[in-house]
Amino acid sequence: MTHPLPAPLQAYRASVLHFTADPAFDDNAFQWHDDGLLIIDGDRVRAAGDYAQLKTSLPAGTTVHDYRGKLIVPGFIDTHIHFPQADMIASPAPGLLPWLETYTFPTERKFADIDHAQDVASFFLDELLRCGTTTAMVYCTVHAASVNAFFAESEKRNLRMAAGKILMDRNCPAFLQDTAEGGVRESEELIGKWHNRGRQMYAITPRFAVTSTEAQLQLAGELAQRYPDTFLQTHVAENTAEVAWVKSLFPKARSYLDVYDHFGMMRPRAVYAHCIWLDDHDRHRMAETQSAASICATSNLFLGSGLFDFARADAARMPLSLATDVGGGTSFSMLQTMNETCKVARMGGTCLPALRMFYLATLGGARSMQLEGTIGSFITGAEADFVVLDPNATPLLARRTSRTGSLEELLFAFAMLGDDRAVAATYAAGKCVHVRIP
Ligand SMILES: [Zn+2]
Repeated sequence: MTHPLPAPLQAYRASVLHFTADPAFDDNAFQWHDDGLLIIDGDRVRAAGDYAQLKTSLPAGTTVHDYRGKLIVPGFIDTHIHFPQADMIASPAPGLLPWLETYTFPTERKFADIDHAQDVASFFLDELLRCGTTTAMVYCTVHAASVNAFFAESEKRNLRMAAGKILMDRNCPAFLQDTAEGGVRESEELIGKWHNRGRQMYAITPRFAVTSTEAQLQLAGELAQRYPDTFLQTHVAENTAEVAWVKSLFPKARSYLDVYDHFGMMRPRAVYAHCIWLDDHDRHRMAETQSAASICATSNLFLGSGLFDFARADAARMPLSLATDVGGGTSFSMLQTMNETCKVARMGGTCLPALRMFYLATLGGARSMQLEGTIGSFITGAEADFVVLDPNATPLLARRTSRTGSLEELLFAFAMLGDDRAVAATYAAGKCVHVRIP
C-alpha cells in the first residue's frame, strides 16, 4: 500500500531520465519514464517514476506542473570553467600560450575590483543556468576578491558550486602574481569562509605546473591533504608545447601528471582538465587515486590542443566528466559540448552514444566530484537540481525529434542540435531559476 505524502510537494510531469551507473560498463545504467513524474519536497527529490504509479501517492491539491512533451534530466555538471573569461570567450589566437598572454592575463587583471568581479559573476551564473548547468567547478582569478564575488552571487541563487582562487607565483605578469606562502594562506582563509557554507564548496586551484614554483605546489599539496573534503583543480597535459615546458621546469618528474602526484595532489575530489597527453601509467594513477578528468572538447579543438583518448581512458577506468573550459571553450552549453565531444571521440576511433554523454554530463560529473547522491541524479534525497529540455525548441530540432524512434535517437538529436534554446527551464534546489522566453 502506498502512503500519502505530506504536502506541500511540487510534482513535474514529463519524460524523466536519470542515471544510476555508467552505460559504458553497465547494461542497467539509467531509468527512463516516458510519461514520468518527478516529485520534489522542498529542495530535495522525493521520488522519480512513472506518472501512472506515482500520481496516486500525491496528497490532494498537490500542484502538478505539466511539462508533457518535454524531457527532464538532472542539472548539467560542468567540471571545468573560468568565470573571469566570460568576457573574452571567442578571442582569436594561434594557440594556448599566446592566447594566455594576449587575452587571458589582461582580462583577469580587472578582477582585483570586486564590483567588476561581481558584475561578471552574475552574468556568468545566469548564462550557466540558461544552458541548464546547475553545478560547475570554477576558476576565479588570483585575487581573493574574485572568489568572494563569485560565491556571493552563487549563494544568492542557492547554487551548488565549487570555486577557488588561482595560485600563480611565476611565469605570469607581475600584476597577477601571488607568492607561495601568501597564495596558500589566502586560499586557507577562503576555505574557512566559504567551504560548505550552504551549497558553496572550495577548490584549491593551482593554475598549472608552469605557473607555480615547487614551493607553491608543495604548500598547495599540503593544504589539499589538510582539507581532504575540499576540491583540487588544475590543468594537465593540454598541449605539446606546454608539456615540453613542464618537462624543462621539472626534469626529474616521470611525466607532467607526476609533478602533481609528487606534491600529493592526486586524491578523490582532485579534478584535472584536459588529460590529453597522458601515458597509460598516468591513466592508471588517475584511476587508482580516484582523480578525475575533465574532457574539454570545444576548447581542445579551438586551441588545437589535441584529442582526448576515450579508449585508453576507459581501459584504465579513469573517472571522466565533461566540461566547457570557457573561455578556451567556445560554448557554455553542455549540449554543444556533447556535440564536439562526440566528434573528438570519433576522430580517435570511439563511437560515443548520446546516453553516455548525458551520463558524463550528469552522474559522471557528480561521481568525479565525489557528490553522488547529492547531485547528478534523481535518487531519493538528492538535491533538486534539474533541467527541462524542449524537443520543439527550434524548427529543426522539432522536425528531427518528431522522427526519432528511440531514447538514444532523441538524446542524440539534443546533443547535436541543442544549445541554450533547448533549455525550457532550469531548477536549482527545487526553485525555478531560469525560464526560456521563446
Ligand atoms: Zn581551463
